[in-house]
Amino acid sequence: MDASIESRVGREVEAWLRWVPRWRPGTHRARSRLCQQCFGSPVLRAAGLDTDVPHAVQHPLAMRVKTLIEDEVETYTAQNLPLLNRELGLIELRKAAQATHPLEGLGPEFDGLDVDAPPADPDEPYLFTFEDFAPPPSADDPELQPPPLSVEEKASLRVEMRLADDYAALVGRRVCVALVEHKPRLQLAVATFVEPQVQALLADLGSTLDPHST
Ligand SMILES: [Zn+2]
Repeated sequence: MDASIESRVGREVEAWLRWVPRWRPGTHRARSRLCQQCFGSPVLRAAGLDTDVPHAVQHPLAMRVKTLIEDEVETYTAQNLPLLNRELGLIELRKAAQATHPLEGLGPEFDGLDVDAPPADPDEPYLFTFEDFAPPPSADDPELQPPPLSVEEKASLRVEMRLADDYAALVGRRVCVALVEHKPRLQLAVATFVEPQVQALLADLGSTLDPHST
């Protein structure tokens, strides 16, 4: 791990600070469930944005930091945890293989037909054909179904998974320490750009509810 985590936190904070002045109270419906990313988030607590801040203001910062942590763990895994990296790679390949099947689901009337009509002029073939888009490996491709892991490999994989978890926790702690440094600016931005809008909304709501105000 290098010092770039702190500078990346700084960049994410700057991006959020540039965005906050444009925030307006949403007209969209309120969420019916608590956001898994934001509720009880140690990141938002470190940033000083965990209480009395609208969720729509909290969420972008929480997501920026989440992506940062995931990127760091991905890099660490790629460099240091070969078994876990291979397993994650296979999962990605299987997902990709399942995602695109241009030659499937065309309906029975296309059964047995060439998806690409032969070019009218053999000297001027199509630039591309639908067949070009067919994914090379399918989910059943033997390459994506390597032999099962040995007992030793499974044990090593478990160790690597724990190392990845430990690393994620370590990055998380460093990110939080870095965020505390930015807390005064983050809170000032909320006080300057968010709080007045919230107060105005509450005042509006108060005058609507109070029959004596008119
Ligand atoms: Zn959220």
